[in-house]
Amino acid sequence: MSEMGELKESGCVAVSDDGKPVNNSELMMRALQYAAGIGIMVISHAEELELVGEGTMNEGFTSTELGLKGIPRVAEDIATARETMLAEYTGTPIHIAHVSTKGAVRIIREAKVRGVKVTCETAPHYFTLTDDAVRGYNTNAKMNPPLREADDVAAIKAGLKDGTIDAIATDHAPHHLDEKDVEFNIAMNGIIGLETSLPLSLGLVTDGTLTINQLVEKMSCIPSKILGLQRGTIKVGSVADITVIDPTCEWVVEADRLSSKSKNSPFLGWKMKGAAAVTVVDGKVAFSR
Ligand SMILES: [Zn+2]
Repeated sequence: MSEMGELKESGCVAVSDDGKPVNNSELMMRALQYAAGIGIMVISHAEELELVGEGTMNEGFTSTELGLKGIPRVAEDIATARETMLAEYTGTPIHIAHVSTKGAVRIIREAKVRGVKVTCETAPHYFTLTDDAVRGYNTNAKMNPPLREADDVAAIKAGLKDGTIDAIATDHAPHHLDEKDVEFNIAMNGIIGLETSLPLSLGLVTDGTLTINQLVEKMSCIPSKILGLQRGTIKVGSVADITVIDPTCEWVVEADRLSSKSKNSPFLGWKMKGAAAVTVVDGKVAFSR
């Protein structure tokens, strides 16, 4: 366990096992109990490592066809169930990162009904892509948890719509070309998501999953609230972190035009609608299109 008390004093708002999931339930329970006393949020990367095994993509029809070892959905479902049960037992809030399966959505929905203090997020790629994107051994579609199937995408959207999924994050994971331009099996996990998150999420407004206000809540207000940050509101005296968006701006995702130094996006070549026009950070214009 990390020094959560000192981390909190130094300004940390949350602790996480992202990158190396805690497989030991006793350790996760103690972490939650300590976190409750300290008042720091625990964010879980919910995957059962033994079930992930040597898997490199979602286990299913596509993995069989491609001859790649699969990661079953149940790896995420079991870990999500454990986290909600530990949160319930300890009475401590827990946040589940990057939900990708229909099972995890159902488990979180049921836990919320019971009054468990669980919140969660998904990322745009989980409501936009399926594991079909891996075809051609596309390492820019390799991530953890992996891209799933059409019924998972539908469940993620239903979860966003009914409030089971509180927030949309990016799980932005830049990687150097050397880490991705290799065989699929040994390529690093993760994709960049910051610059494409807004247009892809605006797609949820276009298809009627969310209203524009609900989208703003899920990308800004609610994440701030979950982490206890004094942000995500526009009023006199609050921190001026503001993004002005142009929902009609059309653009194509091109590697040379991305601001990120890393180009590991599965959306290269995609036509996007919607962009950030101006970004104000702490009262100063940080970006202008
Ligand atoms: Zn993660």
